Amino acid sequence: MIPITVVEFGEDEERLVLEALKSGGIAQGPRVKEFEEAFAEMIGVRHAVAVNNGTTSLVASIDVLDLNPGDEVLTSPFTFVATLNAILEAGATARFADISADDFNVTAATLEAGLTERTRVLMPVHLYGQIADMVAISSLADSRGLAIVEDAAQAHGAAIGGRSAGTYGLGSFSFYATKNITTGEGGMITTDDDVLADRLRILRNQGMRARYQYEVAGHNWRMTDLQAAIGIPQIGRYDGIVAARRANAKRLTAGLEGIRGIVPPRELAGRRHVWHQYTIRVTEEAGVSREEVVAKLGERGVSSGIYYPKLVFDYETYRGRPEVIIDEYPVAERVVAEVLSLPVHPHLTPADLDHIVASLAAIVDA
Ligand SMILES: *Cc1c(COP(=O)(O)O)cnc(C)c1O
Repeated sequence: MIPITVVEFGEDEERLVLEALKSGGIAQGPRVKEFEEAFAEMIGVRHAVAVNNGTTSLVASIDVLDLNPGDEVLTSPFTFVATLNAILEAGATARFADISADDFNVTAATLEAGLTERTRVLMPVHLYGQIADMVAISSLADSRGLAIVEDAAQAHGAAIGGRSAGTYGLGSFSFYATKNITTGEGGMITTDDDVLADRLRILRNQGMRARYQYEVAGHNWRMTDLQAAIGIPQIGRYDGIVAARRANAKRLTAGLEGIRGIVPPRELAGRRHVWHQYTIRVTEEAGVSREEVVAKLGERGVSSGIYYPKLVFDYETYRGRPEVIIDEYPVAERVVAEVLSLPVHPHLTPADLDHIVASLAAIVDA
C-alpha cells in the first residue's frame, strides 16, 4: 500500500532527543529557544513563540488581540475543525467567507463580502500548503483596520509576494505528526510585533514574567525540549523536503492533466506551494463517484484521503450556536464534495507516482 503520509526521522533527531533526555532538562528549555530562533529565521520574522500544539497557537493568537464578546473572526468554511474550535475557545464569534476553487482559500473579495461592523480579525487558512492571496488580503485588512491571524498549520514556508506565510499577521503553525514539519504535537506563533510576542510568552507560562510574579491569568501552553529536539533538524532539511514534495506534485500533475473529470491542483502565479496535500477534484464528468475512486484506489494499493468531508460548521454541535454564524458558500459547498487528496510525501518513488496516475486513469476510464 502506498501510504498518504509517512513519518520518519533521522539520526540528528535521535541524537538531539537523547541529548535532551540525558541532560534531564526535558521541559521547556534551551532547545525550545533554539527551535524558535531557527523557525523565526526560516519564516523571516522577529519572533517565533513555541506552544504545545497548533490549536493552542490559534487560540493564543486570537487571545492577544483582546476581542470583546460578539467580535467576529472571519475565516474559511473549508478547513480543519481546529480553526473553528480555536475561535470559540478564545470567546469570539465565527463568521465565514466563501473560497475560490483555484486555491481552496478565502480571497480578499470573499472576505470583503463577509465583513460586518463586528469584524475584528481576518483569519485565512492556507489550505493544503498554498498560501491565500495575502497581498490583497493584507491591504484589505489595512484599509479596514482589521487584524490578521494566518492559520498556516499546513503551510510552513509557503510564500506570496516574496514573503512567507506567517509574516502578514500573527502566523499560527502546527507540528502535529502529519504536518510538513513535526514534533508529534506542537505549535508556533510568528510575529514581528515585539509587544504581542512578549505577551504571548507571558501567557504561555502561567502569566509569569519573573519567578512567581504573575502579570495576567495565564496558561500552561509550553512546548517541551524533547519536542523541540525533534523539530530542530527538520528545519535544516526543510528546503529538501519541500523540493521533493514539489517535484512529486509536478509529476502527478503532468500525468493527471487531461484525464476526464479529474482537476489537478495548481500552484497559482507568484506563490510558493509547499504541498502539504496534493488535492484533486473529482467532478461529475469523471462518471464515477469520488467514494468509488477512493475504494478503487485502495484496491490498487493507493491510500487517499478526503480533507475535509464536510464544511467545518456542518455538524449538529455547531448548528444553532449564536457564536457560529452560517450563511451560504456555493463554491465551498461544491468543492467539499469533490476533493480527494493523493500521496505527495517525500518518500514516494517515481514508480509510486506513475502507479497513482495510471490507477486514476484506469478507474475513470473503466
Ligand atoms: C493541523 C491543523 C490545525 C491544528 O493543529 P494541531 O497541532 O493539530 O492542534 C489547525 N488548522 C489547520 C488547518 C490544521 O490543518
